Amino acid sequence: MKNIGKEISDELASHHWNENYRQLIKEAFNDPDVQSLITTHRDELTNEDLKRSASKVYEFFTIKNQLKRGEATLAPGYEPKLNVVNHTLEVVYIPSQQLMAEQKIAQLHARVKLLNLPKSLRQASLADFEVAGREAAASAAADFVQQYLTDPKKFHQGLYLSGSFGVGKTYLLAAIANKLAAENIISMLIHFPSFAVKLKNSIGTSQNTPLIETVKKVPILMLDDIGADQLSSWIRDDILGVILQYRMQEQLATFFSSNFSQQQLLQEYLTVNNRGEAEPLKAQRIMERIRYLSRETIMIGKNRRNQ
Ligand code: ADP
Ligand code: MG
Repeated sequence: MKNIGKEISDELASHHWNENYRQLIKEAFNDPDVQSLITTHRDELTNEDLKRSASKVYEFFTIKNQLKRGEATLAPGYEPKLNVVNHTLEVVYIPSQQLMAEQKIAQLHARVKLLNLPKSLRQASLADFEVAGREAAASAAADFVQQYLTDPKKFHQGLYLSGSFGVGKTYLLAAIANKLAAENIISMLIHFPSFAVKLKNSIGTSQNTPLIETVKKVPILMLDDIGADQLSSWIRDDILGVILQYRMQEQLATFFSSNFSQQQLLQEYLTVNNRGEAEPLKAQRIMERIRYLSRETIMIGKNRRNQ
């Protein structure tokens, strides 16, 4: 291959540039990527064209080497690429593999909103879910994902995962949400007792209206740990009741997890409010919505929290 760098540097030598700059430009033109691009496009590029492009070649060369040395560049995450455009060389910046991978992960994370739940759930996956003893829940989860993805517009009954502390209910919900996120489906996973506290703390203000609207409308809603707190009539009827009513009407997939079975949830959580008053009819109405929206699946197994 002809040494284009030499040819160019001879040309450049006739310019009144300072010696340092001339030397740098010469090195830049000798860069293998630059050489190979010029060779490929030699027919379109006169020496005059190349001279006009000297600063671009220098820019490309400088940034390329900064990246190689692991130094910070002006556009972190982007790699320079030299192109021939209209008889001149231009530098374009393309996202690096690493940046693209990071962007992909950020997009996945944005599709699973976690409200008062640990970030570690982002790593939960159906593939890593240890099935032993929890076959029914694992296969119900896989069935849901498969059926939902086949026809997301149709109503799909979510799961009501019940079982004792530490059997992996929250993990399984997150694994489902993460799997759906990979297919562009948006979910929201809410630690229900914290959500109730948050709402109570700003009762009477309109501060939470946007949040409640999002919770009502999100394509996949997962209410985690329902039954773990003392329920007020207001949360039950005006928040939970309203959200579930909306989701039934709009046929939106809704999941629950609880230490209680559905029967226990009705009797021990929904019926008696935090003032000790029994309101069986109101409780019954909420329970009907939960039963409509979700199918109960019992999870058994050891407590994995202290492993
Ligand atoms: P629950 O919600 O039923 O109380 P969690 O989902 O919080 O239980 O699970 C308890 C612990 O066990 C968590 O640290 C979780 O990451 C881990 N875990 C649960 N299920 C699995 C699983 N199938 N594979 C790996 N780790 C799991
Ligand atoms: Mg849990």
